[in-house]
Amino acid sequence: MDFPIKKTDAEWREILAAKGAEPRAFEVTRQAHTERPFTGKYEEIWADGSYHCICCGNHLFDAGTKFDAGCGWPSFWKAVPGAITEIVDRSHGMVRTETVCSQCGAHLGHVFEDGPAPTGLRYCMNSAAIDLQEK
Ligand SMILES: [Zn+2]
Repeated sequence: MDFPIKKTDAEWREILAAKGAEPRAFEVTRQAHTERPFTGKYEEIWADGSYHCICCGNHLFDAGTKFDAGCGWPSFWKAVPGAITEIVDRSHGMVRTETVCSQCGAHLGHVFEDGPAPTGLRYCMNSAAIDLQEK
């Protein structure tokens, strides 16, 4: 898959370090790792603002669409239109829908169809992949 923003692994490591990203941010965003549930910094955060891709700053979610899914990861019921690209993920013996940043291809998490109204969606994100800019 092709994304507008392309960088080498070394460049991404440098960018993430310069932003003070979490230690696992590179593995999560560039190698599709999943952080352990209830360990991410945003799971219990309810501040107003907007959530952005930790790699390129793309605006992904508004804080008003974050909800407590009880699953251990920050969850949202609606993404900013066009901000996220969905990919069918057949790893780990399951069929899931992977979500990546439409600008830089960063792995963010997965989207499931068991979220609340009005969308019925649950964007299950890794805290290490997103960056809250508080209002
Ligand atoms: Zn991005």
